Amino acid sequence: MAQTLDPATRAALIERVRFYRDLGLTEFYRRPVDPADVVGQGFSPDIVLPIESGASAPVASDVSDILLPSEDVQSSPQETPTIAPRKPIFTPPEPPAITPAADRAAALQLIRDDIGDCTRCALHQGRNKIVFSDGPPDARLMFVGEGPGADEDAQGIPFVGKAGQLLNNMIVAMGLRRDEVYIANVVKCRPPGNRTPEPVEGNTCSPFLFRQIDVVRPQVIVALGATAATYLLGQRQPLAGLRGRVHAWRGMSLIVTYHPAFLLRDPRQKKEAWADLQIAMRELGLKSPAKG
Ligand code: URA
Repeated sequence: MAQTLDPATRAALIERVRFYRDLGLTEFYRRPVDPADVVGQGFSPDIVLPIESGASAPVASDVSDILLPSEDVQSSPQETPTIAPRKPIFTPPEPPAITPAADRAAALQLIRDDIGDCTRCALHQGRNKIVFSDGPPDARLMFVGEGPGADEDAQGIPFVGKAGQLLNNMIVAMGLRRDEVYIANVVKCRPPGNRTPEPVEGNTCSPFLFRQIDVVRPQVIVALGATAATYLLGQRQPLAGLRGRVHAWRGMSLIVTYHPAFLLRDPRQKKEAWADLQIAMRELGLKSPAKG
């Protein structure tokens, strides 16, 4: 007999699945549960379990806690469990010749014009503003997120909500200013309820992201979370196996780290994220701040 979850359990379950997804754990199985065992017990984390386990043990933080604030824990409502897309994933063509710095703004405008008032996928139905990008066309560092949230949808600028505030702090911790980095997302319209983009949505929109990357041609790209990593690398892999190293990617250095929204939910992982950012800094030739 089909069971209906009460709203609190459903919300907790969705949050947990999202948590696992952020860790790169995307395969789940459902264990048959005797309703008599769960009635009155609230949420049981055993009902849905990830097949793989890759979470790092919580660690005391140093620079990461000082520089990346942990106070504003966010719980982002989700309508459905967010699970990274299975297949197929768009594979971009070989990168074209480098666009001269002086032509990049115009080249990016051409891409924006191509997008137009886009109706290519269902996400357009709920959007207010297309969120194209933020940052200079000749940035050496680019961040790629998943898709706009409510604040971004309202303003038309990526990462301006709570996750954006944390991203700003991450950028400053790296010794940079936000206006020195380029920021874009896998999808340019807000998925309803901030759910993960469906494969058809990601595959429809990500070619524009690839074109933006090919124009800006940053030295380093930081993929924020599993969705960005999946679409950029063209393969679904647990985040745990992708973090902590440099991926040579289309002539650029790609580094994968946690999504800031995940770090707001689990600030203990900021130390790990900081380690990833330090790899990006090394690639860029930036000095790590001295420990005080
Ligand atoms: N999360 C994202 O992935 N992108 C944004 O622009 C904002 C929040």
